[in-house]
Amino acid sequence: MAAQLIDGQAIANQIYDEIQAEVAELKEKHDVTPGLATVLVGENPASQAYVRSKQKTCTKCGFYSIGEHLPEDASQEEVEALVARLNEDPTIHGILVQLPLPKHIDEEKVLSAISLEKDVDGFHPINIGRLSMKGREPLFVPCTPAGSIELLVRSGVEIEGKEAVVLGRSNIVGLPVSMLLLHRNATLTICHSRTQDLPGTCRRADILIAAVGRPEMVKGDWVKPGAAVIDVGINRVWVEHPADKEYTCAATGETFIAHRKDESEKGGRRRMGEYCAEHDKAYLKDHVPGDVTCEMISLYRKYKLVGDVDFDEVKEVAGFLTPVPGGVGPMTIAMLMWNTLAGAKLAAGLAEK
Ligand code: NAP
Repeated sequence: MAAQLIDGQAIANQIYDEIQAEVAELKEKHDVTPGLATVLVGENPASQAYVRSKQKTCTKCGFYSIGEHLPEDASQEEVEALVARLNEDPTIHGILVQLPLPKHIDEEKVLSAISLEKDVDGFHPINIGRLSMKGREPLFVPCTPAGSIELLVRSGVEIEGKEAVVLGRSNIVGLPVSMLLLHRNATLTICHSRTQDLPGTCRRADILIAAVGRPEMVKGDWVKPGAAVIDVGINRVWVEHPADKEYTCAATGETFIAHRKDESEKGGRRRMGEYCAEHDKAYLKDHVPGDVTCEMISLYRKYKLVGDVDFDEVKEVAGFLTPVPGGVGPMTIAMLMWNTLAGAKLAAGLAEK
Protein backbone atom coordinates (compact mmCIF):
# COMPACT_ATOMS: atom_id res chain seq x y z
CA MET A 1 0.00 0.00 0.00
CA ALA A 2 1.30 3.46 -0.84
CA ALA A 3 2.31 5.70 2.07
CA GLN A 4 0.17 8.57 3.24
CA LEU A 5 2.00 11.71 2.13
CA ILE A 6 2.54 14.36 4.78
CA ASP A 7 1.84 17.73 3.18
CA GLY A 8 4.28 20.15 4.84
CA GLN A 9 2.86 23.21 3.11
CA ALA A 10 -0.70 22.44 4.29
CA ILE A 11 0.51 21.93 7.89
CA ALA A 12 2.64 25.11 7.68
CA ASN A 13 -0.49 26.99 6.51
CA GLN A 14 -2.43 25.70 9.56
CA ILE A 15 0.37 27.04 11.75
CA TYR A 16 0.25 30.43 10.00
CA ASP A 17 -3.51 30.61 10.69
CA GLU A 18 -2.84 29.90 14.38
CA ILE A 19 -0.05 32.51 14.47
CA GLN A 20 -2.20 35.18 12.81
CA ALA A 21 -4.98 34.60 15.36
CA GLU A 22 -2.51 34.89 18.26
CA VAL A 23 -0.91 38.01 16.79
CA ALA A 24 -4.30 39.72 16.48
CA GLU A 25 -4.99 38.96 20.17
CA LEU A 26 -1.50 40.08 21.27
CA LYS A 27 -1.94 43.39 19.46
CA GLU A 28 -5.44 44.00 20.74
CA LYS A 29 -5.00 42.96 24.38
CA HIS A 30 -1.35 43.77 25.03
CA ASP A 31 -0.37 46.25 22.28
CA VAL A 32 2.53 43.95 21.30
CA THR A 33 3.61 43.25 17.70
CA PRO A 34 6.14 40.41 17.31
CA GLY A 35 9.33 41.68 15.66
CA LEU A 36 12.02 39.72 13.82
CA ALA A 37 15.42 41.07 12.73
CA THR A 38 17.37 39.24 10.06
CA VAL A 39 21.12 39.80 9.81
CA LEU A 40 22.78 39.14 6.48
CA VAL A 41 26.51 39.55 5.97
CA GLY A 42 27.79 39.54 2.38
CA GLU A 43 26.17 38.95 -0.98
CA ASN A 44 25.45 35.18 -1.10
CA PRO A 45 22.42 35.03 -3.47
CA ALA A 46 20.89 31.96 -1.74
CA SER A 47 21.14 33.69 1.66
CA GLN A 48 19.61 36.86 0.19
CA ALA A 49 16.68 34.79 -1.14
CA TYR A 50 16.19 33.04 2.26
CA VAL A 51 16.18 36.38 4.08
CA ARG A 52 13.68 37.89 1.61
CA SER A 53 11.35 34.94 2.04
CA LYS A 54 11.56 35.17 5.86
CA GLN A 55 10.68 38.88 5.71
CA LYS A 56 7.75 38.20 3.36
CA THR A 57 6.44 35.56 5.77
CA CYS A 58 6.73 38.06 8.66
CA THR A 59 4.41 40.41 6.78
CA LYS A 60 1.94 37.56 6.18
CA CYS A 61 1.95 36.76 9.92
CA GLY A 62 1.39 40.41 10.92
CA PHE A 63 4.91 40.76 12.39
CA TYR A 64 7.22 43.75 12.31
CA SER A 65 10.51 42.93 10.60
CA ILE A 66 13.81 44.60 9.84
CA GLY A 67 16.54 43.37 7.53
CA GLU A 68 20.08 44.35 8.51
CA HIS A 69 22.66 43.89 5.77
CA LEU A 70 26.42 44.25 6.34
CA PRO A 71 29.04 44.11 3.57
CA GLU A 72 31.09 40.95 2.89
CA ASP A 73 34.19 42.54 4.50
CA ALA A 74 32.39 43.54 7.75
CA SER A 75 34.58 42.82 10.79
CA GLN A 76 33.80 40.47 13.68
CA GLU A 77 33.35 43.55 15.91
CA GLU A 78 30.86 45.14 13.48
CA VAL A 79 28.71 41.97 13.30
CA GLU A 80 28.76 41.55 17.09
CA ALA A 81 27.99 45.27 17.60
CA LEU A 82 24.94 44.91 15.35
CA VAL A 83 23.75 41.86 17.32
CA ALA A 84 24.30 43.80 20.58
CA ARG A 85 22.20 46.71 19.27
CA LEU A 86 19.38 44.32 18.26
CA ASN A 87 19.58 42.63 21.68
CA GLU A 88 18.74 46.03 23.21
CA ASP A 89 15.96 46.92 20.73
CA PRO A 90 12.58 46.41 22.49
CA THR A 91 10.68 46.17 19.17
CA ILE A 92 12.70 43.05 18.23
CA HIS A 93 11.82 39.68 19.78
CA GLY A 94 13.83 37.42 17.52
CA ILE A 95 17.25 37.76 15.87
CA LEU A 96 18.13 35.53 12.97
CA VAL A 97 21.72 35.59 11.73
CA GLN A 98 21.66 34.06 8.27
CA LEU A 99 24.30 31.33 7.91
CA PRO A 100 26.83 30.73 6.51
CA LEU A 101 28.74 33.84 7.57
CA PRO A 102 31.84 34.89 5.59
CA LYS A 103 34.87 32.72 6.45
CA HIS A 104 36.71 35.41 8.47
CA ILE A 105 33.79 35.69 10.94
CA ASP A 106 33.70 33.41 14.00
CA GLU A 107 30.19 31.99 13.67
CA GLU A 108 30.04 30.49 17.16
CA LYS A 109 30.96 33.82 18.78
CA VAL A 110 28.26 35.64 16.81
CA LEU A 111 25.56 33.05 17.65
CA SER A 112 26.58 33.12 21.32
CA ALA A 113 26.27 36.93 21.33
CA ILE A 114 22.53 36.73 20.57
CA SER A 115 20.47 37.26 23.72
CA LEU A 116 19.04 33.95 24.94
CA GLU A 117 15.55 35.50 24.93
CA LYS A 118 15.85 36.42 21.22
CA ASP A 119 17.57 33.24 19.96
CA VAL A 120 14.69 32.21 17.68
CA ASP A 121 16.96 29.93 15.64
CA GLY A 122 17.60 27.97 18.86
CA PHE A 123 21.35 27.58 18.27
CA HIS A 124 22.62 29.41 21.37
CA PRO A 125 24.75 26.88 23.31
CA ILE A 126 22.54 27.35 26.40
CA ASN A 127 19.37 26.59 24.43
CA ILE A 128 21.03 23.51 22.87
CA GLY A 129 22.34 22.48 26.32
CA ARG A 130 18.87 22.73 27.87
CA LEU A 131 17.43 20.75 24.97
CA SER A 132 19.92 17.97 25.73
CA MET A 133 19.12 17.71 29.46
CA LYS A 134 16.27 15.83 31.01
CA GLY A 135 13.75 18.08 32.74
CA ARG A 136 15.12 21.33 31.25
CA GLU A 137 13.25 23.33 28.65
CA PRO A 138 15.04 25.44 26.04
CA LEU A 139 13.46 28.84 25.36
CA PHE A 140 13.58 28.03 21.64
CA VAL A 141 13.98 24.80 19.68
CA PRO A 142 15.87 24.85 16.33
CA CYS A 143 13.35 25.28 13.53
CA THR A 144 13.95 22.34 11.16
CA PRO A 145 14.03 19.72 13.97
CA ALA A 146 10.95 21.29 15.60
CA GLY A 147 9.18 21.28 12.21
CA SER A 148 10.03 17.60 11.64
CA ILE A 149 8.45 16.60 14.97
CA GLU A 150 5.43 18.85 14.37
CA LEU A 151 4.79 17.01 11.08
CA LEU A 152 4.67 13.69 12.98
CA VAL A 153 2.46 15.03 15.76
CA ARG A 154 -0.03 16.75 13.45
CA SER A 155 -0.23 13.62 11.28
CA GLY A 156 -1.23 11.57 14.31
CA VAL A 157 1.97 9.49 14.43
CA GLU A 158 2.56 8.18 17.95
CA ILE A 159 6.12 8.75 19.19
CA GLU A 160 6.09 7.50 22.81
CA GLY A 161 7.62 4.05 23.18
CA LYS A 162 8.37 3.72 19.45
CA GLU A 163 11.73 2.81 17.88
CA ALA A 164 13.07 5.99 16.29
CA VAL A 165 16.17 6.04 14.09
CA VAL A 166 17.80 9.33 13.10
CA LEU A 167 20.18 9.25 10.18
CA GLY A 168 22.68 12.09 10.78
CA ARG A 169 24.05 13.76 13.92
CA SER A 170 24.65 17.37 12.83
CA ASN A 171 24.23 20.24 15.30
CA ILE A 172 21.60 21.77 12.99
CA VAL A 173 19.32 18.77 12.42
CA GLY A 174 20.36 15.26 13.55
CA LEU A 175 21.31 16.00 17.14
CA PRO A 176 18.44 18.36 18.09
CA VAL A 177 15.78 16.21 16.39
CA SER A 178 17.16 13.20 18.32
CA MET A 179 16.81 15.09 21.61
CA LEU A 180 13.23 16.03 20.73
CA LEU A 181 12.37 12.37 20.05
CA LEU A 182 13.91 11.40 23.38
CA HIS A 183 11.87 14.09 25.19
CA ARG A 184 8.79 12.47 23.68
CA ASN A 185 9.90 9.06 25.01
CA ALA A 186 10.93 7.37 21.79
CA THR A 187 13.60 4.65 21.97
CA LEU A 188 16.38 6.28 20.03
CA THR A 189 19.21 5.22 17.71
CA ILE A 190 21.40 7.83 16.01
CA CYS A 191 23.30 6.78 12.87
CA HIS A 192 26.23 8.52 11.20
CA SER A 193 29.04 7.92 8.74
CA ARG A 194 30.71 5.26 10.96
CA THR A 195 27.52 3.25 11.62
CA GLN A 196 27.77 -0.36 10.51
CA ASP A 197 24.76 -1.90 8.77
CA LEU A 198 22.77 1.26 8.08
CA PRO A 199 20.00 -0.57 6.17
CA GLY A 200 19.47 -3.07 9.02
CA THR A 201 19.45 -0.33 11.67
CA CYS A 202 16.99 1.81 9.69
CA ARG A 203 14.73 -1.21 9.15
CA ARG A 204 14.11 -1.37 12.92
CA ALA A 205 12.56 2.09 12.91
CA ASP A 206 8.90 2.86 13.47
CA ILE A 207 9.96 6.46 12.89
CA LEU A 208 12.86 7.17 10.54
CA ILE A 209 14.26 10.68 10.18
CA ALA A 210 16.78 11.08 7.36
CA ALA A 211 19.15 14.07 7.55
CA VAL A 212 22.34 13.01 5.79
CA GLY A 213 22.60 15.21 2.71
CA ARG A 214 23.01 12.19 0.38
CA PRO A 215 20.55 12.15 -2.54
CA GLU A 216 18.03 9.28 -2.34
CA MET A 217 20.25 7.17 -0.05
CA VAL A 218 17.41 5.53 1.91
CA LYS A 219 16.02 2.74 -0.25
CA GLY A 220 12.71 0.87 -0.01
CA ASP A 221 14.31 -2.18 1.64
CA TRP A 222 15.77 0.05 4.43
CA VAL A 223 12.26 0.81 5.66
CA LYS A 224 10.00 -1.20 7.96
CA PRO A 225 6.56 -1.61 6.38
CA GLY A 226 4.20 1.04 7.78
CA ALA A 227 7.00 3.22 9.27
CA ALA A 228 6.73 7.02 9.37
CA VAL A 229 9.59 8.49 7.30
CA ILE A 230 10.56 12.16 7.54
CA ASP A 231 12.94 13.24 4.80
CA VAL A 232 14.86 16.34 5.88
CA GLY A 233 17.35 16.19 2.99
CA ILE A 234 17.42 18.84 0.30
CA ASN A 235 19.84 17.91 -2.46
CA ARG A 236 20.29 19.40 -5.91
CA VAL A 237 20.87 16.83 -8.61
CA TRP A 238 21.63 17.78 -12.19
CA VAL A 239 19.14 16.68 -14.79
CA GLU A 240 19.71 16.61 -18.53
CA HIS A 241 18.33 19.29 -20.79
CA PRO A 242 17.93 18.49 -24.51
CA ALA A 243 20.36 21.29 -25.44
CA ASP A 244 23.06 20.35 -22.88
CA LYS A 245 26.54 20.64 -24.35
CA GLU A 246 30.10 20.55 -23.09
CA TYR A 247 31.86 23.92 -23.08
CA THR A 248 35.50 24.73 -22.33
CA CYS A 249 36.13 27.89 -20.35
CA ALA A 250 38.40 30.14 -22.43
CA ALA A 251 39.84 31.65 -19.23
CA THR A 252 40.53 28.57 -17.06
CA GLY A 253 40.51 25.65 -19.55
CA GLU A 254 37.94 23.80 -17.38
CA THR A 255 35.10 21.98 -19.12
CA PHE A 256 31.48 22.27 -18.00
CA ILE A 257 28.05 21.10 -19.15
CA ALA A 258 25.40 23.74 -19.83
CA HIS A 259 22.82 25.02 -22.29
CA ARG A 260 21.60 28.40 -23.44
CA LYS A 261 18.49 29.34 -21.50
CA ASP A 262 15.28 28.05 -22.92
CA GLU A 263 12.53 30.49 -21.93
CA SER A 264 9.95 27.70 -21.61
CA GLU A 265 12.15 25.82 -19.13
CA LYS A 266 10.51 25.01 -15.81
CA GLY A 267 12.10 24.11 -12.47
CA GLY A 268 15.46 25.02 -11.03
CA ARG A 269 18.41 26.14 -13.04
CA ARG A 270 21.80 27.52 -12.16
CA ARG A 271 23.83 29.95 -14.23
CA MET A 272 27.09 28.21 -15.10
CA GLY A 273 28.79 30.77 -17.36
CA GLU A 274 28.62 33.08 -20.36
CA TYR A 275 28.97 32.44 -24.09
CA CYS A 276 30.01 34.74 -26.96
CA ALA A 277 28.44 33.42 -30.20
CA GLU A 278 30.49 35.80 -32.36
CA HIS A 279 33.82 34.28 -31.24
CA ASP A 280 32.41 30.86 -30.17
CA LYS A 281 33.98 31.30 -26.72
CA ALA A 282 32.56 30.24 -23.36
CA TYR A 283 33.57 31.38 -19.87
CA LEU A 284 32.72 29.92 -16.49
CA LYS A 285 30.74 32.20 -14.16
CA ASP A 286 33.04 34.81 -12.53
CA HIS A 287 35.82 34.05 -15.08
CA VAL A 288 34.89 36.44 -17.89
CA PRO A 289 38.06 38.58 -18.30
CA GLY A 290 37.49 42.25 -17.49
CA ASP A 291 38.63 43.42 -20.96
CA VAL A 292 36.12 41.31 -22.95
CA THR A 293 33.42 43.54 -24.48
CA CYS A 294 31.51 40.87 -26.49
CA GLU A 295 27.79 40.44 -26.12
CA MET A 296 27.26 37.38 -23.90
CA ILE A 297 24.53 34.77 -23.67
CA SER A 298 24.11 33.11 -20.26
CA LEU A 299 24.65 29.36 -19.96
CA TYR A 300 22.59 27.27 -17.51
CA ARG A 301 22.42 23.82 -15.98
CA LYS A 302 19.10 22.31 -14.95
CA TYR A 303 18.60 20.65 -11.59
CA LYS A 304 15.89 19.13 -9.46
CA LEU A 305 15.58 18.88 -5.69
CA VAL A 306 15.53 15.44 -4.12
CA GLY A 307 15.61 14.28 -0.53
CA ASP A 308 17.79 11.76 1.29
CA VAL A 309 15.05 9.17 0.71
CA ASP A 310 14.34 7.38 -2.56
CA PHE A 311 10.76 8.66 -2.75
CA ASP A 312 9.45 6.25 -5.40
CA GLU A 313 10.74 3.16 -3.60
CA VAL A 314 9.95 4.23 -0.03
CA LYS A 315 6.40 5.41 -0.74
CA GLU A 316 5.52 1.77 -1.53
CA VAL A 317 6.69 0.56 1.92
CA ALA A 318 6.26 3.39 4.45
CA GLY A 319 3.04 4.27 6.28
CA PHE A 320 3.76 8.02 6.22
CA LEU A 321 6.27 9.93 4.07
CA THR A 322 7.21 13.57 3.53
CA PRO A 323 7.87 14.65 -0.07
CA VAL A 324 10.80 16.83 -1.18
CA PRO A 325 10.08 19.61 -1.89
CA GLY A 326 6.92 20.33 0.11
CA GLY A 327 7.60 18.31 3.27
CA VAL A 328 9.97 19.53 5.97
CA GLY A 329 11.08 22.60 3.93
CA PRO A 330 7.96 24.77 4.46
CA MET A 331 7.96 23.90 8.18
CA THR A 332 11.34 25.51 8.85
CA ILE A 333 10.09 29.07 8.23
CA ALA A 334 6.76 28.30 9.94
CA MET A 335 8.63 27.27 13.12
CA LEU A 336 10.81 30.38 12.92
CA MET A 337 7.61 32.47 12.97
CA TRP A 338 6.29 30.34 15.82
CA ASN A 339 9.49 30.99 17.78
CA THR A 340 9.32 34.75 17.09
CA LEU A 341 5.76 34.83 18.41
CA ALA A 342 6.97 32.91 21.49
CA GLY A 343 9.77 35.52 21.90
CA ALA A 344 7.18 38.33 21.85
CA LYS A 345 5.07 36.56 24.49
CA LEU A 346 8.18 36.04 26.60
CA ALA A 347 9.10 39.74 26.40
CA ALA A 348 5.53 40.73 27.29
CA GLY A 349 5.64 38.51 30.39
CA LEU A 350 3.00 36.19 28.94
CA ALA A 351 5.26 33.11 28.94
CA GLU A 352 7.71 31.65 31.42
CA LYS A 353 11.48 31.96 30.97
P1 NAP B 1 25.60 17.66 7.68
O1 NAP B 1 26.00 18.68 8.67
O2 NAP B 1 26.43 17.43 6.46
O3 NAP B 1 25.45 16.26 8.46
C1 NAP B 1 25.23 15.08 7.77
C2 NAP B 1 25.18 13.93 8.76
O4 NAP B 1 24.97 12.74 8.01
C3 NAP B 1 26.46 13.73 9.56
O5 NAP B 1 26.14 13.37 10.87
C4 NAP B 1 27.17 12.59 8.83
O6 NAP B 1 27.91 11.73 9.67
C5 NAP B 1 26.00 11.80 8.28
N1 NAP B 1 26.37 11.13 7.03
C6 NAP B 1 26.88 11.67 5.92
N2 NAP B 1 27.08 10.72 4.98
C7 NAP B 1 26.70 9.55 5.54
C8 NAP B 1 26.67 8.21 5.08
N3 NAP B 1 27.07 7.88 3.85
N4 NAP B 1 26.21 7.26 5.93
C9 NAP B 1 25.79 7.57 7.17
N5 NAP B 1 25.79 8.83 7.67
C10 NAP B 1 26.24 9.81 6.84
O7 NAP B 1 24.13 17.93 7.11
P2 NAP B 1 22.88 18.69 7.81
O8 NAP B 1 23.16 20.15 7.91
O9 NAP B 1 22.44 17.94 9.01
O10 NAP B 1 21.80 18.50 6.66
C11 NAP B 1 21.32 17.22 6.27
C12 NAP B 1 20.37 17.38 5.10
O11 NAP B 1 19.25 18.14 5.53
C13 NAP B 1 20.94 18.13 3.91
O12 NAP B 1 20.41 17.58 2.72
C14 NAP B 1 20.44 19.54 4.09
O13 NAP B 1 20.31 20.25 2.87
C15 NAP B 1 19.08 19.27 4.67
N6 NAP B 1 18.53 20.38 5.49
C16 NAP B 1 17.24 20.72 5.24
C17 NAP B 1 16.64 21.74 5.98
C18 NAP B 1 15.20 22.08 5.71
O14 NAP B 1 14.76 23.17 5.98
N7 NAP B 1 14.40 21.14 5.19
C19 NAP B 1 17.36 22.42 6.95
C20 NAP B 1 18.68 22.02 7.22
C21 NAP B 1 19.25 20.99 6.46
P3 NAP B 1 29.23 12.21 10.49
O15 NAP B 1 28.72 13.02 11.64
O16 NAP B 1 29.86 10.93 10.91
O17 NAP B 1 30.03 13.00 9.51
